[in-house]
Amino acid sequence: MAIYVLRLGHRISRDKRISTHCGLVARAFGARGIFYSGEKDTSLEKSINSAVREWGGHFEIKHVNNWKRFIKDFRGQKIHLTMYGLPVQKTIPKIRKPRKDILVIVGGEKVPGEVYQLADFNVSVTSQPHSEVAALAIFLHEYFQGMELTRKFNNTKRKVIPQERGKKVIQP
Ligand code: SAM
Repeated sequence: MAIYVLRLGHRISRDKRISTHCGLVARAFGARGIFYSGEKDTSLEKSINSAVREWGGHFEIKHVNNWKRFIKDFRGQKIHLTMYGLPVQKTIPKIRKPRKDILVIVGGEKVPGEVYQLADFNVSVTSQPHSEVAALAIFLHEYFQGMELTRKFNNTKRKVIPQERGKKVIQP
């Protein structure tokens, strides 16, 4: 069972930073990969792939041309994160039950109405407007019940040794 993220409507000029953060959060919090629609961005892909090379784990990033077809064809549960959905704390037990792959869909500036219909669950992380990065992090944290916090990443070139103060990074 694996979790993937779909980030909708990437725009190279405006979303590089936030889409990169979606990818980094997805990886660090236990997802297996991120797909993105909108403009194909080789620099975004390079940033994520370089983080994977340096910090390890198995994680992929891929552009999708047709997000609607991609969501329809995804075999597993489709979860759309939106402030208008049902509270994460109430829906997560239902989502966790079937041991199926999960696609977590996060929007950009404007989310097409069809996404709400294509999703199996529309899930909110509070009913207040905030960010796809925060919503994704909290969703994954709730889904994994905190177990992602101690996750180990293999094939790593760098590893942080936690310190009370200062920085210690080793090359295992
Ligand atoms: N105005 C956009 C729309 O048409 O819905 C939403 C823009 S918001 C900055 C970008 C994304 O952040 C949303 O599509 C959603 O995935 C996520 N998001 C923001 N607030 C959220 C919340 N309270 N719960 C869940 N997801 C949220």
